[in-house]
Amino acid sequence: MPSSTSSALPLPSGWRLDHSYAQLPTRFFARVQPTPVKAPKLLLLNRPLAGDLGLDPALLARPEYAGWFTGNSLPPGASPLAQAYAGHQFGNFVVLGDGRAILLGEQLTPRGERFDIQLKGAGRTPYSRGGDGRAALGPMLREYIISEAMHALGIPTTRSLAVAATGEPVYRETARTGAVLTRIASSHIRVGTFEWAASTGEIELLRALADYTLRRHYPELLSAEQPYVAMLRAILQRQAALIARWQQIGFVHGVMNTDNMALSGETIDYGPCAFLDVYHSATVFSSIDYHGRYAYANQPEIAHWNLSRLASAMLPLLHADEEKAVAVANEVLEEFPENFEAHWLAALRGKLGLCNQERGDAELAQKLLAIMQEQRMDFTNTFRDISENPLAIDTSAASGEFGVWRARWQERLRREPQDLSEAQALMRRNNPAFIPRNHKVEEALAAATDRSDLSLVEKLVDVLAGPFDYQRHFPEFSAPSITGDAPYQTFCGT
Ligand code: AMP
Ligand code: MG
Repeated sequence: MPSSTSSALPLPSGWRLDHSYAQLPTRFFARVQPTPVKAPKLLLLNRPLAGDLGLDPALLARPEYAGWFTGNSLPPGASPLAQAYAGHQFGNFVVLGDGRAILLGEQLTPRGERFDIQLKGAGRTPYSRGGDGRAALGPMLREYIISEAMHALGIPTTRSLAVAATGEPVYRETARTGAVLTRIASSHIRVGTFEWAASTGEIELLRALADYTLRRHYPELLSAEQPYVAMLRAILQRQAALIARWQQIGFVHGVMNTDNMALSGETIDYGPCAFLDVYHSATVFSSIDYHGRYAYANQPEIAHWNLSRLASAMLPLLHADEEKAVAVANEVLEEFPENFEAHWLAALRGKLGLCNQERGDAELAQKLLAIMQEQRMDFTNTFRDISENPLAIDTSAASGEFGVWRARWQERLRREPQDLSEAQALMRRNNPAFIPRNHKVEEALAAATDRSDLSLVEKLVDVLAGPFDYQRHFPEFSAPSITGDAPYQTFCGT
């Protein structure tokens, strides 16, 4: 990484901010200061993450530093900016940019990593369009809870360092408590960043962005014969792996616009996302996703489509001759389905405790999903149940088909070379005992926003930090939603 200030010694607080993104041509960002708020108050601090970043959690928690988490004051070495980007939102191209997020810089950690430190909800920027630049407490706590749960589940994701209240209301349908989230990301370069660069028609901007992305996320490809083609392929592979992980865990992102797809391969932008309770492949939670564009089962296809937007933006870099560039792009893009399927099948084998590969495995897994869908079975708990009692014989009359499937799977398990305890250990590493249950998330958010009681959020975060911990017993955190038949709905309400 080119680094302007990285030679600076870490300060006592541990801040060591660098600014490699700001070395891109200036059109990639706008320098902007956060807008101070009335009464900054730190509500949640992710102490283990702070430590990993090289920051001193005890110091960060001191009231005099609460302003760091709203933008009222800046940590040493910060140089705030908002990033330019565009994106396809529900299929339509829009020029966007950070309308309410402000990058303070890139923290260089003691382990030599580099992470964006971004304040989400820190005030208006030149890209705010009609927006107020602010965020409400509920959605910021939601992002904190879910992103940290995803991390604990082993899924690449942006992280959450802190949530701070602003002491000011934000106005949505009603007045809400205002808050700022401190988001940590490997970077905020999106498919939409490339779309923006391409939309300028200036190939030098595109090339600068591609070179920067290569250096930051794919340095091993700098010496490839065709680094840009190699990077497109590597991005595609990371996305195929990522979406397979989502599917494996029952995660529905909800707003897979191209501006919400990070080229680092991390899950980003937790808006209307939610986890499956009962399994149904067409599940949609977001109230604004009228046509189910971002339904659970569509996620791989949408990721593929988003990657085709990226390839299209990158065309001038792929080959000097446009026709040849298109051919190269298509050749890479065609690899997605097979790539995804391989990850998906590997993930399902893990969930079913299989390390050997047999031809019928995909069908065995698909059959289970079909039964779960038809019998409205809970996705997480079905896998949890077979992980806890692999050899149990299903006798309940209601689950006839499932009983037949289970016997077939047990037979398959017996053909495995490893003993049952190993298969079970594999399953317990792949089938969480705890996920962010929608009703538990809602309950915790309601306590925080209605009664300023953060204890439920803290408890939930604690349970979700150990999603594979089968030794802990929290029946209320593993029970499926109690809302009965009313489908769960999420609202952008940002
Ligand atoms: P999102 O739906 O969070 O991915 O945001 C999509 C776009 O809308 C991004 O450019 C955001 O910066 C912008 N945006 C969302 N909420 C606000 C807000 N309250 N004020 C300004 N811009 C916003
Ligand atoms: Mg976004």
